[in-house]
Amino acid sequence: MKPVYLDIAVPIPIRRSFHYRAPEGIESRRLKPGIRIEIPFGRQTLTGILLSVDGKTDYDVEKIKPVIRIIDDTPVLDQILFRLCLWASDYYQHPVGEVLHSALPTLLRQGEAIHQSVSILTATRQALPDEAELKRLNLKRSPRQFSLLHRLIANPQGLTRSELRRQEISSAVSRGLVDKELAEWIESQPTGKHFSTKELCNEPALDLTTEQSRALSDSQQPGTHLIFGITGSGKTEVYLQAIEGVLKRGKQALVLVPEIGLTPQTVQRFKSRFQIQVCVLHSGLTDHERLDAWRQARQGSAAIIIGTRSAVFTPLFSPGLIVVDEEHDASFKQQDGFRYSARDLAVLRGQMEDIPVLLGSATPSLESYSNALSGKYSLSRLTLRPNQASTASYHLIGTQHESLHDGFSPRLVQLIKNHLDEGNQVLVFLNRRGFSPVLLCQNCGWIAECSRCDARMTYHLSISSLICHHCGVQTRVLGNCANCASDQLVPLGLGTQRLEQTLNQLFPDQKIIRIDSDSIRRKHAMEKLSKDIIAGEPAILVGTQLLAKGHHFPDVTLVAVVDIDSGFYSADYKAIERMGQLLLQVGGRAGREDKPGTVAVQTSFPDQPILRTLIEDGYEIFASQLLAERTRFDLPPFSYQAIIRAEATNAGVAMQFLSELAKRTTNSASVMVLGPVPSNMEKRAGKHRAQLLFSGKDRRTLQSCLSETIGIAEQSSTVRKVRWSVDVDPVDLF
Ligand code: ADP
Ligand code: ZN
Ligand code: ZN
Repeated sequence: MKPVYLDIAVPIPIRRSFHYRAPEGIESRRLKPGIRIEIPFGRQTLTGILLSVDGKTDYDVEKIKPVIRIIDDTPVLDQILFRLCLWASDYYQHPVGEVLHSALPTLLRQGEAIHQSVSILTATRQALPDEAELKRLNLKRSPRQFSLLHRLIANPQGLTRSELRRQEISSAVSRGLVDKELAEWIESQPTGKHFSTKELCNEPALDLTTEQSRALSDSQQPGTHLIFGITGSGKTEVYLQAIEGVLKRGKQALVLVPEIGLTPQTVQRFKSRFQIQVCVLHSGLTDHERLDAWRQARQGSAAIIIGTRSAVFTPLFSPGLIVVDEEHDASFKQQDGFRYSARDLAVLRGQMEDIPVLLGSATPSLESYSNALSGKYSLSRLTLRPNQASTASYHLIGTQHESLHDGFSPRLVQLIKNHLDEGNQVLVFLNRRGFSPVLLCQNCGWIAECSRCDARMTYHLSISSLICHHCGVQTRVLGNCANCASDQLVPLGLGTQRLEQTLNQLFPDQKIIRIDSDSIRRKHAMEKLSKDIIAGEPAILVGTQLLAKGHHFPDVTLVAVVDIDSGFYSADYKAIERMGQLLLQVGGRAGREDKPGTVAVQTSFPDQPILRTLIEDGYEIFASQLLAERTRFDLPPFSYQAIIRAEATNAGVAMQFLSELAKRTTNSASVMVLGPVPSNMEKRAGKHRAQLLFSGKDRRTLQSCLSETIGIAEQSSTVRKVRWSVDVDPVDLF
C-alpha cells in the first residue's frame, strides 16, 4: 500500500508544519483537514491539527514518525474558521500551529472531545413483556422498575441521567432494568439542539428614530457597516434589533466587546431584552465553562455569544451577524504572541460567511472611517440622542497662566462645586493611576527609577510603595532618599490617588469613588462601585480610562478632564487620534435625558488647532483632518506597517540582530525598512529592546519583504540570543 503522509500544524513557535505517517489502513475519508491528531514531538506528546494529506514527502522517509492517535471524526474548526486561521497565520506571519491553537479553548488543545456525549438510558425492546415474562423477571414485584420500563418504551429517544434525577427515579431502579437486560445505557451526542425562536424578547423593541431605522436596514445586507453614532445615540438599540431579526430566522449573533468586566451594563441589556440563551465569554470562566460555551455556540443552542477579542474564533452553528462594539478600541488588537486584530478578523469572517458585520463607535478608528468613506463599508451616522437628551458641551480651561492646586485650577474647582451643589455627580478623569508618577529628593535631586526599566517608579501613597508600571517591580518607600538619606522626598505630578486625596481636602463632606485598576482588582469590585454610582447620590468619581468605557452614569453632569497634554507630546503619530477618542468617550458619560452635561478640559495648549477642531467641530471633522495629514505623509491607513521587535539581556544584541536583518533583506523601492532603532523605552524589565519598522504602500510587497526578513531572522546566528516578535498593523509604534 502507498504510504500516506500527514502535514500537521504543531503548536510550537516555528513557522512550518511537519510530516507524519498516517495510521496504516486508515480510511482516507477520516483524514479531513482541521481534525486534531496526537503526535510525538521530541520527547513530548502534542495535539496537532491536520493541514493536508500528501502522497509523497520531501523529508527523509525513514525519519517520519507515525502519529499516535487521530482524535476527531469531524474537524474541530469548521471550514471557514480553519481558513480564517490559515489566512491569519499568513497575514500576521505567526506560526500556524500556534494560531490554530489559540482559536481553541484550552481543554480542546488538550484533547478533550468536541462534543459532550451524554449517557442515555433506553429500552432494549419495543414492547412490554407479557404476563409470563413479567413473572420470570420478577418485575411484578418491582413496580417502579416496571413503570420506568413503560416510560422508556414510550420514549424511544431515552432518558438522560439528569432527566431520571428530575423524575426522582433512583439509580437502583435503572440498574435493576439494566441487570435484567431490559434497558441499556448508550452514549449519545447532542444533536444540534437549536434555540427556540418562538418567544424571543422579554420586552418590546423601542420605536427607532429615522437615523436608527436607516442604520438597521443597511445592516441587514451582507457586508461591513460602520455605525458612527455619538454616545447615547442608540447604537446598542440598533444592534439589539439587528440581532432580533437574525434570531427570528434561526441564526446566531456574535458580539465582540472590548472588555466585559468593565461593562456589565451592556451585557445586562442583551440579557434583559432577549429570553433566549445569551452566552457570555468572560475571563472569569473556568476551562470547563469555556468549553461548554464553545459547544453550545457550535451546536446552536446558544443564540447570542458575547465575548472579547478571542471570541472572534467561536464556532457558530448558523452564523447570522457579527457586531463589534467600540470598534476603535485598542484592546481588539492582541499585544503579545499571536498579534491579531479581532476587529479585522471579524470583518474577514463576515465576508467568508457572507453575513453582515456591524462596527459601532462614537469615535471610529481612522481605518474604519476611511473604509467607510471609500465605500468599502456602508456608513450610518447617528447624530442625535433619542429622548431629546442633549449632548455635552465642551469647555477648554487653559492652565498655562493658572496656579494649580494639585492639578486643579480655581475655575475647575468652582465648576465641580456648582455641579455638586445642584445634587449631581461629577466625574474627574486622569489617565494615570497611583499617587504620583515621580518621587523626587529635594536635597540631592535623586528620582526613584526602576532598576529594570528606563522608567520612573510611580509612587503609591496608600501602600507607601513605589511601583514600576512597566514591569511591576514594587519597593517600599522608607521615608529616606536612597542616595543621600535625606527625608526631603516629595511626590511630583498627578495620579488618581492624589486627585482623590486633594478632592477629599477640597470637598470634605463628599462621597468620593475612585475607579482604576488598583481599586477594582477584587472580584465584582467594579460591579459594586458602578451600582453605588448609579444609585445617584451626589458624589465625585475619580478614575482612569476604565471610566471611559461603555458605562452610562445618568447623574453625572460634569466631566472634568484634568490633563490631556500627554497626547500632544508623544512621538507616536497615533497619539492624537487616541487622545481625541478618549476625550469624547469620557465626555460621552456626561448628561442624559433631562440633565445636560458639561465637559471641562484642562490643558496648557488651549489654542491647539486640532484640539479646537475636535471640540468645536466634532469628531468627524477632526478625523478628516487627521486623515488628510496621514495621506500627506503616507501613513496608515494609506500605507501599511509592520514591526519586528527584539530584546536581549545584553545591551546592543537586539540592535545587532535587527541591523543584520535590515542589511540582508532585499532592498525594494516600494518598501521602506526603517531602523533599527532602540525602542522608546530602551530597557524594560531588564531587557534591552530595539525595533525595525517596515512601511509600504502595497500590502503584498510589504508582506513578502517581511516574510523574507523573517526567513533571514530564523537563520541568523544571533537569533538564539534574542527574543523577537512580528507585529503586523501595529497599534503601538513603540
Ligand atoms: P449608545 O449605544 O449609542 O450609547 P444606547 O443604545 O445605549 O446608545 O441608547 C442610549 C439611550 O437611549 C438608552 O437609554 C436607550 O434605551 C435610549 N434609546 C435608544 N434608542 C431609542 C429610541 N429609538 N427611542 C427611545 N429611546 C431610545
Ligand atoms: Zn520596571
Ligand atoms: Zn537625596
